[in-house]
Amino acid sequence: MKTRIETPSSKVITEAAERLRRGELVVMPTETVYGLAGSTHDQGALKSIFEIKGRPSDNPLIAHVEGPEGAKNIVAGWDERCDMLSAAFWPGPLTMVLHRHHDVPPGASGGRDTLAVRSPAHPVARSLLDAFGGPLSAPSANRSGSVSPTTAEHVASDFSESDAAGTLLIIDGGPCSVGIESTVLDLTTDPPRVLRPGSVSNESIIELIGTIEMSVVSAQDASPGTRSRHYAPLTPLALIEAEGLEAELGDDPSRIIIIRAGGEPGADGPREIQLPGDPAGFAEGLYDALRRADGSGASRILVVVPGTGSPWRAVRDRLERAAATGG
Ligand code: AMP
Ligand code: MG
Repeated sequence: MKTRIETPSSKVITEAAERLRRGELVVMPTETVYGLAGSTHDQGALKSIFEIKGRPSDNPLIAHVEGPEGAKNIVAGWDERCDMLSAAFWPGPLTMVLHRHHDVPPGASGGRDTLAVRSPAHPVARSLLDAFGGPLSAPSANRSGSVSPTTAEHVASDFSESDAAGTLLIIDGGPCSVGIESTVLDLTTDPPRVLRPGSVSNESIIELIGTIEMSVVSAQDASPGTRSRHYAPLTPLALIEAEGLEAELGDDPSRIIIIRAGGEPGADGPREIQLPGDPAGFAEGLYDALRRADGSGASRILVVVPGTGSPWRAVRDRLERAAATGG
């Protein structure tokens, strides 16, 4: 389909809000990744999101709101914990799963009776929500199965290959500052459960609301989009320890591309993409690095484990899923 990248201006935001009111979709930048947005209350728009992405119809969407008041209109069961969590982390990369309000079409959550909701911090997403005046359902703006987009160009390159009709308006808010998807916390279970780790840490959630279940979710039923092979580039990817790098390079390092934190550029060794050595910096650049590695012509991507322990949990989750071959 055709795509049109525009830098944000009040004219572009007005046009985007009009398109959304007509039931069309718009790509908006958020601080996590770019989102393919449509009105949460418009069944036609919801249907288009699944079609254009090629997303399985049971994979639920996150509804984006300006703040708690907007969330309370579309979920049931907002409680004191939600007040505390939203006061601490909204606007920002924490998604809460609650019960879906009966006014919200089932398509907004892939047919589930729960609904995920988040208030994005990116100023462009916020002005679009304000101009539109209602909730926007928005999954990552990539074709299903490819790496989430963190720039407007990533989005354009994904959708230019789609044969859908019409022109997709992409609002360019620059590279996403967080760079990986939000933390998803299910508050409909007892204890609450982190379905997807993100930059809002399990520890910071526990500090506010007490016990949560921390087990890794890989089953489709609890959180469909978290199935193992989900954040993967097309080129085979292996996650290795630094000590194992030499052995992995083998006899023909020329077809390999390495992604690692703060490595030294090799003179005539294999190609290498370097990322910052801190978890936030690594996350910010990760998806662009995966996309560049994928487009490099290499036959194998080696990612050197950047770190261990809880600060690296969200990054490790994405890397392990990118490396997974099954599921
Ligand atoms: P995306 O917006 O592409 O990052 O995907 C949103 C992800 O959030 C889904 O793939 C699920 O893993 C999770 N999610 C959204 N809504 C729900 C829900 N109602 N129940 C459980 N998980 C959800
Ligand atoms: Mg996605």
